[in-house]
Amino acid sequence: MDRDTDIAGLCARALEGHQLDERALEQVLSLGADEASQVFAAARELRRRHFGDRVFLYGFVYFSTYCRNLCNFCLYRAGNTASPRYRKSLDEVVAICRDLAGSGVVLLDLTMGEDPELYADPGLRDLLDLVVAVRRETGLPVMVSPGVVARDVLHGLRELGADWYALYQETHTPEVYERLRVGQPFAARADARLAARRAGLLVEDGILTGIGDTPADRARSIVSMRDGGWDQVRVMTFVPQEGTPLAGTEPPDESAELLTIAALRLAMPGRLIPASLDVDGLRGLERRLQAGANVVTSIVPPTVGLAGVSQSELDIDEGHRTVAEVVPRLAGLGLRAASPQEYVAWLDARRATRAS
Ligand code: SF4
Repeated sequence: MDRDTDIAGLCARALEGHQLDERALEQVLSLGADEASQVFAAARELRRRHFGDRVFLYGFVYFSTYCRNLCNFCLYRAGNTASPRYRKSLDEVVAICRDLAGSGVVLLDLTMGEDPELYADPGLRDLLDLVVAVRRETGLPVMVSPGVVARDVLHGLRELGADWYALYQETHTPEVYERLRVGQPFAARADARLAARRAGLLVEDGILTGIGDTPADRARSIVSMRDGGWDQVRVMTFVPQEGTPLAGTEPPDESAELLTIAALRLAMPGRLIPASLDVDGLRGLERRLQAGANVVTSIVPPTVGLAGVSQSELDIDEGHRTVAEVVPRLAGLGLRAASPQEYVAWLDARRATRAS
């Protein structure tokens, strides 16, 4: 059996509903770009079986870019004078969310750095108030990503209406992790995701690629995220950031990210897997969807002074990271933007599965 047949066999096994093990996933992740098309086709077929033509569009509101942490890959790390800093008021965030909801997104992703001003209150009352206000104004599901927080904060977030807790491990290989999230214990993040699930929140984990990771590292991450049972799993390509210790890193190409999206779909066909606009802007969207993604993240409205995370400016002022720009790209691939009702139905079904 030659290598091509092996890959065809792995794809066939995934399509038959078998679980690919870590070794098989590493094999998929080691493919060259010219060999990847059959993996992408299998990933699209699995997406079709589980989600039909529906794609979920997420609005992104990075409401505070202040942070007390020193992640080596991040533009917003503490003390980086190259970082744009702002902190939006509750009223500003609510107004932005109202407009995003009107534009057709199905979820509002309220993202923040670990802002020392917010963390001056360990109960994160300002974040809880923001969740309440955004829910009341829009009625849409809300995702938060406050970092590792106390259990009572997680319970409070759920009780006040938050649906999602996003906490990215970036890599599930401890030696690689230590070079990225400096001073943030590896195990604490896994514990926080578990605590969030116990509090009733849906959970997103995710990885970066292009930070010295290998196919074996990424396969380990995929298995770890599958074993964790996380509801949304993402991969993004590292973008070197000015003023950071990794600024001089050679920018990786996107092939590892695309293969990882497909491998995530093969390994976890029924989970939500994002195509982020925050790596390559609108021009990279189709490739990520063709690799098997079924969520578009980092939709950012223009003219309200918001930044992205990996790409702080790309496509934002031009209005390219909007629902109006994304929808025609979906249509070109035979896909469509799901309605808020369809999204809530998916969330409810997912919660019911997890409760059983
Ligand atoms: S990745 Fe998040 S926690 Fe780390 S420095 Fe950036 S904003 Fe802060």
